[in-house]
Amino acid sequence: MHLVLLGAPGAGKGTQVERLKGKLGLVHIAAGDLLRKAVKERTLLGQKAENFIKQGILVSDDIVLELLEDKIREEKKGFILDGFPRNLFQAKKLDEILDGQNRRLDLVINLEVKESTIIERLSRRLVCSSCGRIYNKENLGDFSSTCRVCGASFFQRDDDNPEAIRERIKTYLKHTHPLINYYRKKKILYNIEGEQSPEEITQKILNFLGRKEKI
Ligand code: ADP
Repeated sequence: MHLVLLGAPGAGKGTQVERLKGKLGLVHIAAGDLLRKAVKERTLLGQKAENFIKQGILVSDDIVLELLEDKIREEKKGFILDGFPRNLFQAKKLDEILDGQNRRLDLVINLEVKESTIIERLSRRLVCSSCGRIYNKENLGDFSSTCRVCGASFFQRDDDNPEAIRERIKTYLKHTHPLINYYRKKKILYNIEGEQSPEEITQKILNFLGRKEKI
């Protein structure tokens, strides 16, 4: 199965992938994580990408494709893509890669959230520095200051500041939002309301996939 998770920054893509990948036996390919890893390791691609990420604007397509194309091509078990595609060029490129292998996207899940929710979620989001688990007011608890899964400390992403958040929303609306129509026309879009609890969202996606498989 080949899935794409679509949605504004902070829509809950990362949280849902963490919950879905094990249940569906799929590999998670996250463009943002791969880019941040490249930045941290100071690779050439990472150095080129760093400033764009900090400002909340898109990294150039060639950098992203260089990081992702082989991963997508070589993933045989099936994948959930998160953060890619982020514009029409990338969406068409993804179709091309899959077409060339006689594969296709099965479903694009679009998480819909209000702008006020996005700003609120991102400005207080913490990420585990080791396993990448995402924490927020709801799942942090009053006293924990380290990751419940692996014990490592939290950090706040460089681009989770008000200025970069505003820019990321603008970038999303301009470049990524049009993909909703692109996939709607292909009849592989599943819209889900992202304001619900993570548990409810996961369950609805799984129910939908179950129904789809039986059709
Ligand atoms: P979020 O969805 O929370 O904004 P991500 O972790 O997916 O964050 O991405 C962080 C940043 O990495 C983006 O703001 C952008 O600068 C860059 N980026 C991630 N994926 C892509 C992509 N497919 N194309 C271009 N830039 C990307």
